[in-house]
Amino acid sequence: MTSFNDFGLAEPILRALAEEKYVTPTPIQAQTIPLAMQSRDVIGIAQTGTGKTAAFALPILNHLYTKRMRPEKKSCRVLVLSPTRELSGQIADSFRAYGRHMRPLAVELAIGGVPINRQVRGMAHGVEVLVATPGRLLDLVNQRAVRLDQVEILVLDEADRMLDMGFINDIRKVVAMLRKERQTLFFSATMPQEITRLADQMLRDPARVAVTPQATTVERIQQRVIHTEKSGKPSLLIEVLKTETTDRVLVFTRTKHGADKVVRGLEKTGFFAEAIHGNKSQNQRERVLADFRSGKLRILIATDIAARGIDVDGVSHVINYDLPNIPESYVHRIGRTARAGADGIAISFCDQEEGAFLRDIERMIRMTIPATGERQAHRPAPQNAGNRNGGRQNSGGRNQRGNSRGGNGGGGNGRPSHNGNRSHAGHQGRPSHAHQAPHQEATTGEPRDIGNVTFLQRSGEPRRNAGHQAKS
Ligand code: AMP
Repeated sequence: MTSFNDFGLAEPILRALAEEKYVTPTPIQAQTIPLAMQSRDVIGIAQTGTGKTAAFALPILNHLYTKRMRPEKKSCRVLVLSPTRELSGQIADSFRAYGRHMRPLAVELAIGGVPINRQVRGMAHGVEVLVATPGRLLDLVNQRAVRLDQVEILVLDEADRMLDMGFINDIRKVVAMLRKERQTLFFSATMPQEITRLADQMLRDPARVAVTPQATTVERIQQRVIHTEKSGKPSLLIEVLKTETTDRVLVFTRTKHGADKVVRGLEKTGFFAEAIHGNKSQNQRERVLADFRSGKLRILIATDIAARGIDVDGVSHVINYDLPNIPESYVHRIGRTARAGADGIAISFCDQEEGAFLRDIERMIRMTIPATGERQAHRPAPQNAGNRNGGRQNSGGRNQRGNSRGGNGGGGNGRPSHNGNRSHAGHQGRPSHAHQAPHQEATTGEPRDIGNVTFLQRSGEPRRNAGHQAKS
């Protein structure tokens, strides 16, 4: 499919797409839309940034348009479950945007962190589309403000994140309330065993579609690691912010408390930053995100979970103030830069306790991340694979996630390059390709693709060096 006109979508939807300036379907859209329009159940292996929201929203809107009927009181015809408030909000906005020429089209949001009464009122007469996080949805069901027996189409978005966030039981409860004759569209970036099991229980003869993100994405991210003492991180961050030419900077910390501490530290030296994490109210989070998106806020501090689902183009730098203990999180984090066809810089601070995390990450991405800066002296001596967790507790077995991703599909991350260009003034000399000597370790195994980054490495090749230059 090379054009949205080829799908047979209704005219009001095509008109909205033209206004959105969508010309070419992304690979996940090209694969999913025809199947969904035939009422097939679909498992889509794709993550945010591939255009997957439109991949499910467009055929759903088409269904609502062609089979018009009044939703029953307190009911929804389409239920979309998503793990975070932010992602839910973005999905609801997408439905409203693509369905802006359809009448009637009521889209309601059921998310935590905001008063429930408005949502109760919003559902009173029934809606076409309800986008919900699982916890709040169950609250509404328990209050008898929502009934789920009329759902014709269920979408489960970011299923693997639902698992990470402990929502799987809530999802099972919700699914048990739905009628069996329904269509289910199931999306996940990775397919760990538990997610495969859940899909097997929820879907009927599903078609599988998968997109392999662009193999070149990782090449466009210049990755660096700076070894430092833990106590040196606050001043190191300030140094990096002063010396780098930054546009929008996303700083990751492992904990909420850590995020607030970084904000306070920066404020003392005149840098304005804000944090987004689970302890912030929905209003605060929305305001901070809007400021970051508009460019009013240049430095955003986030925890992994809070950052999930944030779709902001033009992030010039991702800074890992703390290294994540789950290697996949590293890839999700650095994929926040290099979005929409742009490239970016990822700088990781690594203290002595985090050496094992760094080795896990390098092993997974099969690259040596160049160490830069005078703090190199602290680089821990290499250890062998035995000590994967550096003596720390394994976080609930999550390290096993993410290896089983399918990927036979379209290629390309599906984001047309017109979408979100940004200038790179000041990144002079960056792609000098001055690779450091690669590790001569042979690696084996299949390509790994996590986040919007694919790691291709033939067995027996030396590890590539991540990043294009090593600043000394
Ligand atoms: P998603 O993966 O659904 O979060 O979409 C990522 C971004 O790509 C969103 O900003 C969409 O508006 C945009 N997008 C999705 N599909 C297309 C398309 N076919 N052409 C241009 N932009 C698109």
